[in-house]
Amino acid sequence: MRIDLHTHSTRSDGTDTPAELVRKAKLEGLDVVALTDHDATEGWAEAQEAADEVGLRLIRGIEISTQYEGLSVHLLGYEFDPTNEPLVEELHRVLGGRNDRLPRLLEKLAALGMPLTEQEVLAVAGDAAAWGRPHVADAMIAKGYIKDRDEAFRDWLVPGKPAYVGRYSADLFEAVRLLRAAGGKPVIAHAWARDSGAKITPELLAELAEAGLAGIEVDHPDHDAQARAGLAAIADDLGLAKTGSSDYHGTGKGPEFHLGANLTDPAELERLLG
Ligand code: AMP
Ligand code: ZN
Ligand code: FE
Ligand code: FE
Repeated sequence: MRIDLHTHSTRSDGTDTPAELVRKAKLEGLDVVALTDHDATEGWAEAQEAADEVGLRLIRGIEISTQYEGLSVHLLGYEFDPTNEPLVEELHRVLGGRNDRLPRLLEKLAALGMPLTEQEVLAVAGDAAAWGRPHVADAMIAKGYIKDRDEAFRDWLVPGKPAYVGRYSADLFEAVRLLRAAGGKPVIAHAWARDSGAKITPELLAELAEAGLAGIEVDHPDHDAQARAGLAAIADDLGLAKTGSSDYHGTGKGPEFHLGANLTDPAELERLLG
């Protein structure tokens, strides 16, 4: 059984619609795929319809933008009630933070000689419920300012670079509790990705487990062998599920993020969802 628990569609910053993504997952030989768009559940219905059509199991998920003591942390959540009010309110605050950031980000780009209008960014964002820096990057590419998304994330749109603007994100522990209260299973995403360093400590993971964390994303394209081994040991120690996934974004990210790039063991999915 082939299970991929972390993918993005055009409802956030992926390049396949939810239905295209599900059909590709089927063609890639996946049996189970989770749709985990950033801060939004808008893709679920379309993905479910396609999953029913092609005979694939869809896990309904999300990747919430959170922060812990100033550190940006991505939190996956699975199979929660998407109408749960406290959770929906917090997701609206996060999406609002994305909107608030845009004018300030565009001011900085204009000052740097790379003017863009909000319309130009929103046009490349299409039907995204959660637009993000990858869309700003796409608009910069369309204008000929840069060559690809990597260049935007290397030179302009990240902390320490001249066009970086922060935005509101949920408190990490609060997001764990909100997902749990909505019946969901929180899983910490790419905790030890190469560029985020190992700032998510074993101690913090233990505290999160106390607060309701259900799993740790162990196998992810941004994790080297050492990170995978370390996180697997911590998950075993804390009795948490170990997940594996691609973090597929269509053509929005490199080929190492292809569907099924990493898989979740069926026993771990069972441990996660019960
Ligand atoms: P934002 O949602 O605005 O915070 O932007 C963060 C998103 O950008 C994350 O979902 C990443 O998957 C994506 N991202 C980060 N680095 C890159 C990159 N080099 N190329 C494409 N996407 C990236
Ligand atoms: Zn993304
Ligand atoms: Fe992420
Ligand atoms: Fe992701």
